[in-house]
Amino acid sequence: QAKTAGRNTVRFYDPSMQAALDRRSTLENELRHAIKRGEFTLYYQPQFDHAHRLIGAEALLRWQHPRHGLIAPEEFIPISEQTSIILPIGRWVLETACAQLAAWSHGERTRGLMLGVNVSARQFHQPEFVDQVRHVLESSRANPQRLTFELTESMVLDDVPDTIRKISTLKELGMHFSLDDFGTGFSSFSCLTRLSLDQLKIDKSFVLNLPDNGADAAIVTAIITMARSLGLNIIAEGVETEAQRVFLASQGCNAYQGHLFGRPMPVEAFEAFVSGI
Ligand code: C2E
Ligand code: MG
Ligand code: MG
Ligand code: MG
Repeated sequence: QAKTAGRNTVRFYDPSMQAALDRRSTLENELRHAIKRGEFTLYYQPQFDHAHRLIGAEALLRWQHPRHGLIAPEEFIPISEQTSIILPIGRWVLETACAQLAAWSHGERTRGLMLGVNVSARQFHQPEFVDQVRHVLESSRANPQRLTFELTESMVLDDVPDTIRKISTLKELGMHFSLDDFGTGFSSFSCLTRLSLDQLKIDKSFVLNLPDNGADAAIVTAIITMARSLGLNIIAEGVETEAQRVFLASQGCNAYQGHLFGRPMPVEAFEAFVSGI
């Protein structure tokens, strides 16, 4: 087959492609053992309000691989989603984040913080999800009012009725919901109003070229205006420069996350950051 393939077709025995496939299948096998080997860790990235007050953090998963070093979620989350390893991983993230939230409830400077947790489509749409969350909240004694789940547009659209049901059940416990990477997917306006979300999170790809890129500036302005008229909070991710922050603030953005404010960091560094503010 490979021999007869003409130009402009992907050859089966492309060595670089083979190397990528090899890495992928090695990682896939190793992912199965990563939890019990204690190789996962959560980093925390601070979030600030318009008055530069620390309001919370987003928990971001990292895989400390014994040979490859720190692996970013962009590489291993897609693999785990395709193989259902995401289910135990997602559970580990939830348990670890809730344990952290419960620990922070004892600290004077950390007790008021919100914690954002990313939830994958597979994890969210499994029938046991709500029970799992209830169970983890009870056993960790974390305050659900401090917990925000970050969902993406595509997972919401996978099954809108299931999403509506789960969000409203979990909101009864006091939890909050944010729509992550907003603007990159295809959510319809009707969907947005039926979901009882608390927050829209503007994707960093729209923030990157602010304020000079006119198209991105127009999109961001429209998102903020719409969010405000729907009574939703708005947070911008990937804020790296003062010029981006100033533009977002001038359009009425109420919260910020990005390297300008602080990078994702291990819990010890995050706690030091909090006490240093
Ligand atoms: P996300 O939820 O949209 O997270 C924001 C990403 O932007 C993070 O990448 C963060 O490190 C990065 N970021 C923050 N500030 C800046 C900035 O100023 N500039 C730039 N260029 N980037 C910035 P990260 O940590 O690599 O995570 C990537 C994605 O992986 C996340 O995107 C999320 O979709 C997924 N992810 C992370 N942790 C988890 C998890 O525990 N569970 C699930 N299901 N997905 C996760
Ligand atoms: Mg997120
Ligand atoms: Mg995001
Ligand atoms: Mg993103």
